[in-house]
Order: sequence, then structure tokens, then C-alpha cells
Amino acid sequence: MPECADLFHRIQEKIRPVFYTQSRVYINAASGTGLQEAAVRNGVRTKVLNCVNGAFSKRWQQVTEANGKANEVLHGQWGQPILPEQVAERLAGGEFDAVTIVHNETSTGVTSDIKAISEAIRALPNGQDISILIDSVSGLSGARLEFDAWDLDVVLTSSQKAFALPAGLAFCAVSDRALAKAKTVPARGLYFDFVDLEKYLVKDQTPATPAISLMYALDKQLEDMLAEGMENRFARHLAMRDRTIAWAKGHGFNVFAAAGYESPTMTCLENNLGISVSGLNKFLRSKGMIISSGYGDLKETTFRIAHMGDTQMAELDELLTNIDEFLAQS
Ligand SMILES: *Cc1c(COP(=O)(O)O)cnc(C)c1O
Repeated sequence: MPECADLFHRIQEKIRPVFYTQSRVYINAASGTGLQEAAVRNGVRTKVLNCVNGAFSKRWQQVTEANGKANEVLHGQWGQPILPEQVAERLAGGEFDAVTIVHNETSTGVTSDIKAISEAIRALPNGQDISILIDSVSGLSGARLEFDAWDLDVVLTSSQKAFALPAGLAFCAVSDRALAKAKTVPARGLYFDFVDLEKYLVKDQTPATPAISLMYALDKQLEDMLAEGMENRFARHLAMRDRTIAWAKGHGFNVFAAAGYESPTMTCLENNLGISVSGLNKFLRSKGMIISSGYGDLKETTFRIAHMGDTQMAELDELLTNIDEFLAQS
């Protein structure tokens, strides 16, 4: 229906500035994991380097292997970022045509410097031939990421993290270079075939049924994001990050992320004071709030405070005041 094409077109216009791109952004009825699969199926021809420094980058390795792509793993330490020189050193051998990196590791609260990593890759003799595939599921729109200026090939995200929308949509920006390459990659699958998605996108359509109800929500949310302004949005997230870290340090909690790489969208704290996170959440629930336990291998030893999406400083302050109240009485 023309109404749906209009909606799709409006969304395209508004979502590109959020990715800082003039390029295409595919809108999919999927979650972020689906686009991890799309990125490797379309973006890897010979062999990919999976950079792993947490549970979600580890998942991308598993997705890669489940799709039968040849890979090697760069093992980073959990809590540490992926560093440009590490990546460049591994890619310098020349056998890789792609690399996967998670921008904002939601399991550890670490943000890697994607701009510096991309510069280091592009400076290699074969640097132009390497597809830079980035997962920014919990970063994009809260933590700065500039698709065109940083010369990236695929950046993927989903609706339910920093976009603060219901789950069910996933978005990826794809460079001209990556789209041209996809045409030469065999067995791209069907649902997430970039070549097919492009054929429909230029007509403001999708190859399969879109999640129209969620797209109305996206349209409204993009409107609000652009009204706030991306720079203001980044600043709001950084201020909430700094507030959370100052609060944590004031209480003697250790920040899990390496200094200088703390995520703007969520903070992972070591439970070095041995508080009862389930007890805390029971208390917070009575106030209409909740925080997250640790994720994966860090489940028992850390807890996580999200400060992303629509969350405002006053709401974060209210949360921290409530945690103070719990700590005082326990
Ligand atoms: C949540 C998350 C995913 C998985 O996304 P889904 O939308 O749950 O499939 C992947 N990567 C990161 C960094 C995440 O935070």
C-alpha cells in the first residue's frame, strides 16, 4: 500500500542521520542476532576475524561458525576493549576479508574505539579489501558512531536497546563497497540477502512482510531523537554514565570496564561488596524499577545499570537514591 511505502520512505530519511550515513539502512523484522547472521553471510567470502571480548562478541563467533564461514578468533580479555594495533596485527597477514567487532559489549560495559580500529585497518596494504562489520546493538544512538566518516561497511543494531523501542526490529547500514561485495559472495541465504533487500529498498518496500506496527513506533522515536539532536543525546548518555560511575566509586564498587573505555549506555559493576542483587531487585521492583544481574560468565560476580534510550538524569538519580535506601537498610 502507498501508505506503507510512505512510512518506509520517511523512516529511511530519518534513520540515516542516526547512523551518520548517506548510505542505505535496511529495516528488518528481526532482532540483532538475525543481523549478526546477515553480516557474515553477506560480508564474508574467504575468512573472517571474530574479535571476542565478551558474551555478545562471542555470540557473533558462534553465529559465524553456525553459518559455516571460515574464521579465526582474536581473544580479548573481558573488561578490556579491542585495540586497533591488535586487530591490525592479526589482519596484516592478508588471509582475512572481513572482521567482526562489537562496539559496545553489553556483558562487560566496555566500548571499543571503532574509529581508531577502522583507521588502523584501512592503513594496511589490503585495508580497503577488508569488510569492517560492527555490532552496535546496545550502542547506536546513545554512544557516538559515525558510519560514513569512520569508513565502516556494516553496522547493525536492534530496536529494544538504546533506541528504547519494543523488540522486533533490527537495522543495518551497509556501504556501497559491502553491497558490491555481497553480489560476489555465494550462499547469502534468502531472508537477509542484501542484494534482495536493496532491490526492494529503492522502491520503499521490503522483500517479506514488514513489522508495520513497530515501524510506526520507530517513525515517532526517530522524530523525537532528531528533535533532541544526536549531539545532545550523546552528551545526555555520557552525563548519566559519569553520574553512575561517581556513585559507584563513592560506595566502593569497582567498575568492571577498563578505565577510559566505560560504556556511555550502561555500566557493569563488580559486586565486590557482596550485595544481594536479587534482594536489591525485589526492593526496586516495589518502586517500579529494576536493574540487571551480570551476563553470561559474569552473572554472579557483577551487576549492570542501564542508562540508555529515553532515560533521563532525574530518573537515574531516583534509581540511585533507591539503591542507597536498600544498601542503608541491608
Ligand atoms: C542484545 C545484544 C545482542 C543481541 O541482540 P538481540 O536483539 O537480542 O538479538 C547482540 N549484541 C549486543 C552487543 C547486544 O547487546
